[in-house]
Amino acid sequence: MSALSYETADLPLVFVENDGGSPTPGSLGLLARGRTLAGGVAAVVTGPGSAAIAESLDRYGADVAYFSDAADLDPELAGPQVDVIEAVLRDNAYRTVLIENSVVAADIAASLACRLEAGVVWDLQDIEVRDGRLLGTKLALNDTVTIEAGWTSDIRVAVIRLGAFEPVAVAVRGRVQRVEPAFRPTGSRVSVAERRVAAVADVDLGAASVIVAGGRGLRDQAALELLEELATAMSGVVAVSMPLVDRGWSGHSRQVGQTGQKVRPRLYLACGISGQLGHRVGMERSRTIVAINTDETAPIFGICDAGLIGDLHTVVPELARRFREAHDKDSGS
Ligand code: FAD
Repeated sequence: MSALSYETADLPLVFVENDGGSPTPGSLGLLARGRTLAGGVAAVVTGPGSAAIAESLDRYGADVAYFSDAADLDPELAGPQVDVIEAVLRDNAYRTVLIENSVVAADIAASLACRLEAGVVWDLQDIEVRDGRLLGTKLALNDTVTIEAGWTSDIRVAVIRLGAFEPVAVAVRGRVQRVEPAFRPTGSRVSVAERRVAAVADVDLGAASVIVAGGRGLRDQAALELLEELATAMSGVVAVSMPLVDRGWSGHSRQVGQTGQKVRPRLYLACGISGQLGHRVGMERSRTIVAINTDETAPIFGICDAGLIGDLHTVVPELARRFREAHDKDSGS
């Protein structure tokens, strides 16, 4: 693999995602990681409230924060945001862009690749400078191997997994600079037609200390009741993988994963869940992970603390029975 050298003067530029006037925690985590690459980091943020966000970023280590709050900027649309990032890159000769993986990140990274002939490496878990070269690490082949990926392009775009790095408070004397790019007319051809507010969550997965989660291994929607019974016996709550939400078996507020909730319960019991990356990023920081799966080669067995090879429709009711019995014994009934 050939890769261009990484000068320590190459400050990475972090795209800070603007979530209704606040920076996303993942973007702040990227600032922390970015600082370790070159001893400093720059940030760019766009949209309503971006001036205030830019002012706050030196508390997370941004030596310089660029912002644009021009009327054309909608944080949900990529085109005008790419105009801003492109202007910052061209005017300041940054060569490395770090972006947190999100819905809009895909459009932004692809547009930068087309406009600047930038190389994009997707879904990185980590990034570092080793022997003067920028290297990213990611999972491949259905998450069974870890590979290293580098860049041969002059501009390098690294799309990093959601929540890969925690924000770190590092006070620096930061500079804030407004950017006023010439917006391309193509950007205004796309607009947001409608916004729908998600239904109010019926459960707070983030606060649960025990989660019993079900996946595509459930034979039908009625089988969710088995999970409910076990969760009740363990004073926990039920969560699901994305395919069950797609089928309409459960609400999105119960989905764990990349496009769902990120949870860290004391115990995460994964029933009929394969453990693919999209799900893992939401639960792999649980204190203890227990998996029930019929397939001993399922990736979930690679990250769990205890695994049971078996049919969840037999194992889950048996577990629920035993927990109920233990509870009854404890309470003397
Ligand atoms: P499968 O992968 O089909 O696994 C089902 C498992 O059940 C298998 O391992 C099988 O062996 C086992 N099984 C079958 N029968 C039984 C039985 N009777 N008893 C026990 N085990 C049994 N996924 C999420 O969950 N959350 C997300 O937020 C999410 N976001 C995503 C975002 C993006 C951009 C992308 C590309 C994907 C995302 N995904 C997400 C999808 C993710 O990659 C997987 O496709 C998904 O997690 C698979 O769900 P699953 O494990 O339930 O199903």
